[in-house]
Amino acid sequence: MTDKELMKRGRGAYDYSSAHGVIAVKWFDNKCVHLLSTACGVEPLSTVQRWSKEERAKVAVQCPSVIPAYNQHMGGIDLSDMLVQLYKTPAKSRRWYLPIFGYILDLCVANSWLVYKRDCGLLSEKPMSLKRFRVAVAHSLQKVNKPVGRPPSSSPPQRSAPRRVLASPQPDVRYDNIGHFPCHTEKRGRCNICPKGVSRWKCSKCNVFLCLNAKQNCFVAYHEM
Ligand SMILES: [Zn+2]
Ligand SMILES: [Zn+2]
Repeated sequence: MTDKELMKRGRGAYDYSSAHGVIAVKWFDNKCVHLLSTACGVEPLSTVQRWSKEERAKVAVQCPSVIPAYNQHMGGIDLSDMLVQLYKTPAKSRRWYLPIFGYILDLCVANSWLVYKRDCGLLSEKPMSLKRFRVAVAHSLQKVNKPVGRPPSSSPPQRSAPRRVLASPQPDVRYDNIGHFPCHTEKRGRCNICPKGVSRWKCSKCNVFLCLNAKQNCFVAYHEM
């Protein structure tokens, strides 16, 4: 129905259409309100209290069940919008679908972070911030199951200030069994797993020092689940 047709039927009138598990609902309150849902539809009908100018009193206005569901959960939508907005994927594009694609990715990361935070709560662990979480996801996607750690044939130029983004790799990178090569370095460093070990051997992919000698092989131990 058009807005006009719906408004003729009076406050509380509604119309809907559904396909493939998605319902589109139009409801006339003060104005026409449009909602899409995959979770609830029209029935059971309920009522909301609204001020009526004509009757100078609050009246019960009929509404489809998706309205109270929206009101109950809109705090979650506000939170979701905020989390997506914080570290938004920049996607200014003439192609309209690219910002939508970016939004879907951002929404997935925000939702994953919320699930991760809930799990941390259950395990009584301190969760990482959304920013760190995004970086961790990016690192994993970049490295996991990819041979990015192959040692260079010639020694690379030493960067004066190495960029420290993550102290240790994510477990999915650490245990992926691809491209973890021992690299000998001039500088020694403390072994990542045994408390007293000092080593000149580093994992090329994980970028951590690990014992690798006749007595001690922390290199293998580190990469085994
Ligand atoms: Zn490694
Ligand atoms: Zn060690």
